[in-house]
Amino acid sequence: MNHDRQPYRRCGRSGLLLPAISLGLWHNFGDGRTLESQREILLKALDLGITHFDLADRYGPPLGAAEHTFGAIHRRDLRPLRDQIVVSTKGSNPMWDGPYGKGNSRKHLLATLDRSLDRLGLDFVDIFYLHREDPETPLEEQAATLDHLVRTGRTLYVGVSNFSPEATTEIAALLRGLGTPLLVHQPRYSMIRRGIEEKLLSVLEREGVGCVVYSPLAQGLLTDRYLDGIPDDSRAAEGRFLGRSDVTPEVVGFVRAIGAIAAERGQTVAQMALAWALRDPRVTSVLVGASSAAQLESNVAAVDRLGFTDDELAALDRAAKE
Ligand code: NDP
Repeated sequence: MNHDRQPYRRCGRSGLLLPAISLGLWHNFGDGRTLESQREILLKALDLGITHFDLADRYGPPLGAAEHTFGAIHRRDLRPLRDQIVVSTKGSNPMWDGPYGKGNSRKHLLATLDRSLDRLGLDFVDIFYLHREDPETPLEEQAATLDHLVRTGRTLYVGVSNFSPEATTEIAALLRGLGTPLLVHQPRYSMIRRGIEEKLLSVLEREGVGCVVYSPLAQGLLTDRYLDGIPDDSRAAEGRFLGRSDVTPEVVGFVRAIGAIAAERGQTVAQMALAWALRDPRVTSVLVGASSAAQLESNVAAVDRLGFTDDELAALDRAAKE
């Protein structure tokens, strides 16, 4: 592992440092990919100083496949490095039939995390997230369950994902009262999805909660991938969570417009998009996906130029509004 390749940033007001760029296993770690290609991406990540790997019970397909794959590679290659990496997973989204197969009840969350630990072949994860809000389960029960998961050694830290600023404030207060501080929030954030700038980031700063943002490349839209059409091996062609209709003339026009600014900075559009998301110190880490080790290596070079001039930021804001 090459720790010199990455800056490590403090996650909120906690003791935990996370790499500026973390790797997510939502795509590319399920069916249709060879174990060797997946192993190559994970080993490359370690080589690039990426110490944080993000999973969820559902990631695949099929459900659970990404955790299974990570577990297999962990057994083979990563076990000696267990204390050098941070593994996160999540629960809440539907996993099995019946009333206990989803949601943020104590009943579901305990079962889904235990199944995740089985698939991962780990005694504990480092961060366990509530993947989304569950308005039907009292927040008191959700907070008490997270506290229980920490106290029983199943996870070291807890987080929430996709929670509104209001629900985040409420659960942070409940968790603080229980003595298990909320470590981190995981929202979506990119140059074309800037919603967290309105309120969430200031809530996280006030509460001392870190922010690990997902889809900072807008699932690949903020790269040169779609400048000349939709390649057969791309996520938009696969059409699961990103479709052909998401590759709009407006998005392609935006990527072309910011390409000149990226070139002047000596960066690719993808590298600049990652540096841009990291320009705010309240953002702890950007969580990228990669369908190849080469993509990951190229993207990590974003850390070579993280700063922006006021003129560059103003030009990027103007391009976003056009
Ligand atoms: P990104 O926005 O980084 O998109 C990654 C995709 O972009 C890659 O798979 C690849 O797609 C394309 N790409 C990456 N680099 C390049 C490059 N240099 N050139 C061309 N194309 C490139 O992030 P994801 O959407 O994958 O999300 C990252 C992680 O965030 C997930 O794995 C997951 O851990 C987390 N997440 C969490 C969610 C939540 O609800 N909490 C929701 C969504 C994600 P291609 O296949 O086309 O090559």
